[in-house]
Amino acid sequence: MQPLIIPRKEHGISRKQVSLNALRTLYRLRDNGFIGYLVGGCVRDLLLGRTPKDFDIATDAAPGQIKRLFRNCRLVGRRFRLAHLYFQDEIIEVSTFRAAAPAGEEEPDETAASASRSRQPRHLVDEDGMVLRDNVFGTPGEDALRRDFTVNALAYNIADFSLIDFTTGLSDLRQRLLRPIGDPLVRFTEDPVRMLRAVRFSASHDLVIEPATWEILCELAPTISRASPARLYEEMQKLFLLGAARPVFHLLLKSGLFAPLFPGLSRWLDESDLNPARLCENLAWLDRRHGNGTSPPSPLLFLALLFGPALEAETLVRQRDGIPRQQALNAAYAAFMEELCKTVQVPARLGGRMRNLLAMQPSLHRMPPRRPASLAARPDFTDALAYLRAGAETRGENRSVLGWWDDFLSAPPAVGSQGLPADEAPPKRRRRRRRRHRRPAPAAV
Ligand code: ATP
Ligand code: MG
Repeated sequence: MQPLIIPRKEHGISRKQVSLNALRTLYRLRDNGFIGYLVGGCVRDLLLGRTPKDFDIATDAAPGQIKRLFRNCRLVGRRFRLAHLYFQDEIIEVSTFRAAAPAGEEEPDETAASASRSRQPRHLVDEDGMVLRDNVFGTPGEDALRRDFTVNALAYNIADFSLIDFTTGLSDLRQRLLRPIGDPLVRFTEDPVRMLRAVRFSASHDLVIEPATWEILCELAPTISRASPARLYEEMQKLFLLGAARPVFHLLLKSGLFAPLFPGLSRWLDESDLNPARLCENLAWLDRRHGNGTSPPSPLLFLALLFGPALEAETLVRQRDGIPRQQALNAAYAAFMEELCKTVQVPARLGGRMRNLLAMQPSLHRMPPRRPASLAARPDFTDALAYLRAGAETRGENRSVLGWWDDFLSAPPAVGSQGLPADEAPPKRRRRRRRRHRRPAPAAV
């Protein structure tokens, strides 16, 4: 299929919208005789009038050639060999055009030589068709066709500032349709994470997943657990932390992706009296917080909002059996994380911080709190208070408690000794008087 080429004057992408570092990279590639395209999500987002999250570049320069051209370059990735260019405030990803599958006898190019040196196959598929390694270089057209969705396969050519559409990306974008390139069954089998990407783009970019694709996605949803837990954790952050957590949650439940991703939480949703509405409220609150631009929600706060209600309920069950709260929380947390980490590898340190955030809640609720300034100085206090705020603003829980903390934090502290408020200044240590040993009176003579 011939690509559709849209000249500069017929599309709305201007260089002013492109990061200066990306432009400089493209110019240097071009000036050294290489092809330089802006590719992927940034082209899609510029066409939709959104600010791209990052700028990706594709080129016909091999990784080694990119490395020689840019001093700030580091080659990364096993599954995909990529160049990362480090700038002060940005990393630009530059990848060599790749083909979807091995094209028989490979050309003995520079990278083929280094690949055979390391004796690693450049394309590797497991027995179920999942791609394990994909380093076969290809043409710009082949590179576009191995991408996930048509709207993600558009390219902006620095040579003449034209747009290149190798598939049906432009018309799909106009119809706000999300469609995989090729057979969805094959594409989702090659890489199950594409199902999560479909859900993410649909939720965050207001795109409709093509009906036939949606059916296949629902059918293949249980296979999501075949993706590596580390990759699923990364994807989970993108799913929930970019301002569309609530619609993402809805689509995950509807498609059947939620249960294999979060088996423990899913069971809890099925079995407990609380319905998913509580989590929906929390996630909608998270999205509003993302939208109002105060401070983007942290992964810690998100974890607490998603898993906190279930963990608190499990803790309560154990407390009813007479186990003290902290011990009950620890046990509930350990069981929950053990199961979760089989599919989604939440870093242990972050998980531990979530447990501490939940453990801090009773101290925050206590009115008046004991030693509030030291509580406020604890690590992760801000997120612990945000967790309390979510409950107050969505379900009206503990509003007076939140009011107390807001007043406390906005009032200038009455500083006593050691910078603590007067009521928290440690009591002055009394000096122990030394007993004077009186000399015994001289015996009367
Ligand atoms: P955003 O950065 O806004 O989240 P994006 O589409 O740019 O969205 P990236 O993860 O930055 O997503 O990937 C850049 C491009 O690489 C995608 O647009 C797509 O063309 C391609 N791509 C990424 N992941 C896959 C995948 N799993 N399978 C096929 N192509 C992919
Ligand atoms: Mg991107």
